[in-house]
Amino acid sequence: MKYLSTRGDTPPTDLSRAIATGLAPDGGLFVPESVPHIATSEFDSADGLAQTAGQLLAPFFAGDALAAQLPDIAAAALNFDAPLRALGTPNDYLLELFHGPTAAFKDFGARFLAATMQRLPRESDRPTTILVATSGDTGAAVAAAFHRLPGFRVVILYPDGRVSPRQAHQLGCFGDNVVALKVDGTFDDCQQLVKQALGDTGLQAHVPLSSANSISLGRLLPQMSYYAQVALAHHRRHGRSLNFVVPTGNLGNALACILARAVGIPIGDIVLATNANPTLTEFFAGDEYRTRAGIATLANAMDIGAPSNFERLRWLYPDDVKLRRAFTAIRVDDDTIRETIARRYRQYGEILCPHTACAVNALERMRSDGAEGDWAAVATAHPAKFDSVVEPLISTRVPVPTALAELLNRPARAEKISVDYGTLRARLLA
Ligand SMILES: *Cc1c(COP(=O)(O)O)cnc(C)c1O
Repeated sequence: MKYLSTRGDTPPTDLSRAIATGLAPDGGLFVPESVPHIATSEFDSADGLAQTAGQLLAPFFAGDALAAQLPDIAAAALNFDAPLRALGTPNDYLLELFHGPTAAFKDFGARFLAATMQRLPRESDRPTTILVATSGDTGAAVAAAFHRLPGFRVVILYPDGRVSPRQAHQLGCFGDNVVALKVDGTFDDCQQLVKQALGDTGLQAHVPLSSANSISLGRLLPQMSYYAQVALAHHRRHGRSLNFVVPTGNLGNALACILARAVGIPIGDIVLATNANPTLTEFFAGDEYRTRAGIATLANAMDIGAPSNFERLRWLYPDDVKLRRAFTAIRVDDDTIRETIARRYRQYGEILCPHTACAVNALERMRSDGAEGDWAAVATAHPAKFDSVVEPLISTRVPVPTALAELLNRPARAEKISVDYGTLRARLLA
């Protein structure tokens, strides 16, 4: 399998190369040259997430130097569960993606990316610096995945004061080869600084850089696995396809679900739940696609005004009319997020993080509009990561999972920097 760019101006590229490069040289996103089809019977003997990923991703790795190592990469990276649990409302489920080391779904992609990059041939004997801008969860997942990995350093940029206190603690608690920089600016400012560094060839002559943002194929592809695992199991057990509501920011997680369906996994409808940021809901309601600055909401990991994977969605659905027909996007504002968290706890004892609450509320609205069948809302983070939002709404303490508690017990430290490329450059060279 070779990879092409969504912008059409990059020669066919191997998967290893595409993962090492991140963004295609023409500024587009790498996509497979064709969408493989996999018969569901291929999964009959797959036991667990890593083996499901091995089957599912084999055609995407075919012909690549890393193809033979795919089973090892999957086993090393995807070593925690993604359980499907019944919700209090009939035929509704929660797909829990928060059982990894940093309690958000970003762990699946970040760990797979690290396991892949670790096995790529090294182009220099200097360590590779993984530079990430994060609105909260990506940075911690990437830091955990690359922590103490020889040959790598991680530099995280996050907007000071705009991530939850526990997210900030997680970003600063690793130390060793992980540096946390709190930027006196917005997430967009952080992203801009990262872009500038990645485009700075003078800097990269001294400091080999790589990114780990959500456009990386090394993160996107493994995220298909949990959708495949639960949808196949559900189909085997009930003879029906499972439908999904995915809380969406940059469209990475949702695109993984869409790709899993495209290769033949029995997945029904896929609905995108957003926070108050209107880019996607306006497009799907019929307006021209228009990006804008992200606005701050309680579901901060989805505060995105320009979803980076939208180009990949348009590659799969080149006709906007058909694209709009294929998906629904539902917008959930902060008041509704609060109301949903409080009510689901009161009525069913369910504790939801603000992102997950967007999906559950979107599902509730669809049910009241007559949606039938079996639906899974995707739980993208553990509510304990957002205790400062969730606890006042439910008037009780959210139990902290062991892995998260372990991180919160470590001391944390971050260096403050202003939105100034010169400062970042000097810090990277130091
Ligand atoms: C990153 C994130 C999202 C959004 O995922 P995308 O792939 O960017 O759409 C949703 N919820 C949580 C908790 C996240 O960390």
